[in-house]
Amino acid sequence: MSNPSIENVVIIGTGCAGLTAAIYTARANLNPLVLEGPLPGGQLTTTSEVENFPGFPEGVDGFQLMQNLREQATKFGTRFEQALVDSVNFSVLPRKLVAGERTILAKAVIVATGASPRMTGIPGEKDLYGGKGVTTCATCDGAFYKKMDVAVIGGGDSAAEEALFLTRFASKVYLVHRRDTLRASKIMAGRVAAHEKIQCVWDSVPVAVEGVAQGAVSGLKIKQVKTGAESVLPVKGVFVAIGHVPNTKAFAPPLEVDENGYFKPVNGSQIQTNVAGVYVAGDCADHVYRQAVTAAGMGCAAAIEAERWLAEHSG
Ligand code: NAP
Repeated sequence: MSNPSIENVVIIGTGCAGLTAAIYTARANLNPLVLEGPLPGGQLTTTSEVENFPGFPEGVDGFQLMQNLREQATKFGTRFEQALVDSVNFSVLPRKLVAGERTILAKAVIVATGASPRMTGIPGEKDLYGGKGVTTCATCDGAFYKKMDVAVIGGGDSAAEEALFLTRFASKVYLVHRRDTLRASKIMAGRVAAHEKIQCVWDSVPVAVEGVAQGAVSGLKIKQVKTGAESVLPVKGVFVAIGHVPNTKAFAPPLEVDENGYFKPVNGSQIQTNVAGVYVAGDCADHVYRQAVTAAGMGCAAAIEAERWLAEHSG
């Protein structure tokens, strides 16, 4: 078998971060190779309308936005291949990426593998996900629930943040948590407790999302864990906020991650890793902002850094 050719730059992931990195590196004539994983286009393809991406005053369909980014990347010479990287060897130059039987060699690497929202797995959740009332992003979808009652599931900072954000639109926000105290930071928990539109539903686990037959959420069935009593919250939206799982497993180690599994950039940078010539971008390295536009920004920065690295190290 012939040796694989050495790529200038391999970008892993086709969300906002990966595709922006592709546009920039392709325009810099680096002939990037983008490896596409199990969710082409990333998380934005699972939402309907995106109203907060700059430049689209009328909003843009999430799927369409990702198509546009892909078209733009392709126009400048990006190549796409389906491959799920399952291990890496970053102690050698060129860097080695292993995807099943295949080995890919690259001088520079941009990891933009995103994060997957953790889901509860209760009946109805999957059927009504994405435009039918179950969502994992209040910033993306909150505005669709004006003057409606909604429920947020979770008790961490994400849930608190989602619940507080939703109070701008919803009439009432139920915060359903499986214990009787929030895991969220004191300041966030305090804001939640003080907000008149938020009603905490303690010691309760979600049992089912109702409305599958109608194709739209009509309620959230919950169970009080201490009494076993079941009831239905009459909500039109269910926001699942029980954490994210960053897709970093195949790369860590050697790449450093924090206690939640997110890549941990070094030297005060958002994108530089502990391995020279290897960069991270988007939700796999960002548990704070997690926005399409911030991911795109990180993809751009990673591309520029990769370009500089290649200029300095390609003989
Ligand atoms: P998290 O802190 O892990 O909280 C997840 C919450 O979901 C917990 O309250 C947990 O309950 C609950 N949960 C987990 N699995 C569940 C299930 N199957 N059914 C019902 N409930 C379930 O996740 P996060 O809120 O996304 O935060 C992740 C990290 O990012 C944290 O370090 C957080 O501080 C940080 N963050 C910070 C901010 C901010 O500073 N503004 C915003 C967002 C996130 P238990 O409490 O019972 O475990």
